[in-house]
Amino acid sequence: MSDLAKELIRPADVDAEAVTLVNCDDEPIHRLGAIQPFGRLVLCHPETLRIEQVSMNVDATHPQGRLGQPLEALIGEANVARVREATADGFDNPILLTMELDGTPYEVFIYETEGSLAIEYEPTPQGHRPPDFFKINGLLQQLKLDGDVATLCRRAATSMRRLVGFDRVMVYRFAPELHGEVIGEDHRDGLESYLGLHYPATDIPAQARALYLQNHCRLIADVNAPPVRLIPALHPHTKRVTDLSSSSIRSVSPIHIEYLQNMGLRASMSISIVQDGHLWGLFACHHYAPFHAPLSLRQTAEFFSNVFAARLAEKEATLERSYQASFRRRQAQMLEEMSNRTDFATAFYEGSPTLLDLIDAPGAAVCFDGQLHTLGETPDADAIRQLVGWLQRHDEREVFHTDALTELWPEGEALRERASGVLALAISQVQGDYLFWFRPEASRMVQWAGNPTKALVNEAGKLRLSPRKSFAAWREEVGGRSRPWTDYEVEAATGFRTVVIGLVLKTAGELKLRADVLARLNDELTRSNDDLDSFAYIASHDLKEPLRGIRNYAQFLLEDYEDQLDKEGRQKLETLVRLGRRMEELISSLLEFSRVGRLDLAVKRCDTNEIVADVLEMLAPRLEERRAVVHLPRPLPTVECDEVRITEVFANLISNGVKYNDQPQPRVEVGYTEVEGSDNPVFFVRDNGIGIEREYHENVFHIFRRLHARDAYDGGTGAGLTIVRKIVERHGGRIWLESQPGRGTTFYFVLNA
Ligand code: ADP
Repeated sequence: MSDLAKELIRPADVDAEAVTLVNCDDEPIHRLGAIQPFGRLVLCHPETLRIEQVSMNVDATHPQGRLGQPLEALIGEANVARVREATADGFDNPILLTMELDGTPYEVFIYETEGSLAIEYEPTPQGHRPPDFFKINGLLQQLKLDGDVATLCRRAATSMRRLVGFDRVMVYRFAPELHGEVIGEDHRDGLESYLGLHYPATDIPAQARALYLQNHCRLIADVNAPPVRLIPALHPHTKRVTDLSSSSIRSVSPIHIEYLQNMGLRASMSISIVQDGHLWGLFACHHYAPFHAPLSLRQTAEFFSNVFAARLAEKEATLERSYQASFRRRQAQMLEEMSNRTDFATAFYEGSPTLLDLIDAPGAAVCFDGQLHTLGETPDADAIRQLVGWLQRHDEREVFHTDALTELWPEGEALRERASGVLALAISQVQGDYLFWFRPEASRMVQWAGNPTKALVNEAGKLRLSPRKSFAAWREEVGGRSRPWTDYEVEAATGFRTVVIGLVLKTAGELKLRADVLARLNDELTRSNDDLDSFAYIASHDLKEPLRGIRNYAQFLLEDYEDQLDKEGRQKLETLVRLGRRMEELISSLLEFSRVGRLDLAVKRCDTNEIVADVLEMLAPRLEERRAVVHLPRPLPTVECDEVRITEVFANLISNGVKYNDQPQPRVEVGYTEVEGSDNPVFFVRDNGIGIEREYHENVFHIFRRLHARDAYDGGTGAGLTIVRKIVERHGGRIWLESQPGRGTTFYFVLNA
């Protein structure tokens, strides 16, 4: 169960009865009581060096006879002297030696287990020389740091294969959740590539991973070679099967051997890649013939792996640093953009950079002021809004992050594909203002690299499984999960949020400031309006008298000197009188208008029925003349208002309704509607008159604006509606109209709105 080969064949599928992944996990793989036949094992008392336990192959004829003998009897005095010398300072760490026995060179591995000194020795294959420094250095030179992590891993696979000479070498990386991926590979010609394949965490049981950390290199030299038992079967002190976790020739679980055999492999070796005490990954080496990689080669491979792990850490640290630097740079740019914009939130999605450039995620979204903007690959808008709603209700955190959203929120299934990973910054939880980054379900990112037709292979009556099966299992295992957010990303996003909040508050402050400025301007405007009103009042008041004088004088001239004037002179005087009268009317309107602005309102409770009744009485002659009907569908309410002014309003609106009316019988309806949630009724005055084109709806309220020739509809100066609006506004209300040209107009107004 110790290397990638295991992942390629899943026992449950091979023989569901006998072997399952669960019993794989339970199997005591370091206490199998046997070694592989390419080596020999002797356990001695650490001081007396008296033999306590041996592998059956230490003596071809009578291994039992060796028990209790001094070590010298087995390996000779000279070799024992070397062992004593090597272990003189203790043997906390394994010791490597070479020795010669009966003319055969051996490589020796010495370590401690359960209070005994373990000596493993394996014959050096013919012609083998330990890799020299030049070769090792040359291979290490290949581990250049100029590419990405995958490039470094590919180079490492190539160098490792050059070193160990296996048919295939893979660099297998564990994800934080322990599933794995082949990210580097080198193989001899003619083999199918496994690069890019993924495997579920369950494919490498926890205890195997624990052993990988303790013992960095494991060789299975020949999967078909029967294991060699130790005698006695139990360790003499512990009375248990001896712990061989430190052994370099330990035999392997029969389940694992079966996997390897099912794959057609004869030899396999795995070398741990350990970073800061955690298992980053493995070099997984496959060979299709038996392969006794000698101890010194295995040790060199381990050394190479250690250097590689350090280079890798350096590479990853550099990448992390540049990611952090780029984050900081872009964050600064974005903040500057934000402070330069009136609507700073637009910088998140319109600026350069955008949120997508800040954090390594394919999708982002900005939910601000009720507006949603998405960037890159995101769930649809509805799904994001639901997520906002869910966060508002269920998560108090200012920075929310998950790599498995549907585990927290099963109803969020719609987001699973594109947003299994969510990093959300709450700018205002109450208002639903959030910034998001999304990461997709990890399995969606990976394309199956193998040949899909080769899922199952029937070989010698046994089902052999291709990696595709593991891929499917991996997919299931990582379903609903994204690549996780790193600590740095969460931390950086948290910092970013703080700055954004600062800016929001500042902007809110500025808004308040702007509101203050507006209020001041408004005051000034009000004051200047008052000034204007005073001016209009004084001007109109003061002009009124001389004007009337001129007009009267002209009138006198006309009357008293009529016979002395010729026709032309008379006409000129008549024009003078008419223009004077007209000017007086204009000035009266202006005076009236300015008066509305200046005078305090005498507000009291008034029955509007009475007001309208007064108006109708006042207008009676004109209504009669036009045969007009004024209709009140229901009694009108009582409201707080200035009676005189509101009388003016109704009078103006009702008379306009009759005036601007072509119907043989003009009809005016005066009524009101209630508005839900408001105490103020909306009054209306509706007529069946000529109507007002849409584009003039605002114009009619401007002073001296008339839509018709002065005499066309017996019109006035064009100040009526201006004054009406001013009165309504002075009551804190507003007025507007709806109209269908040719069919009629309805004026609406509300007081104290
Ligand atoms: P005036 O005092 O000359 O009647 P107003 O300010 O009351 O002026 O109205 C401005 C213009 O709006 C009028 O000249 C007229 O063209 C138009 N108008 C006002 N009321 C109505 C109405 N009920 N139907 C059609 N047009 C109207």
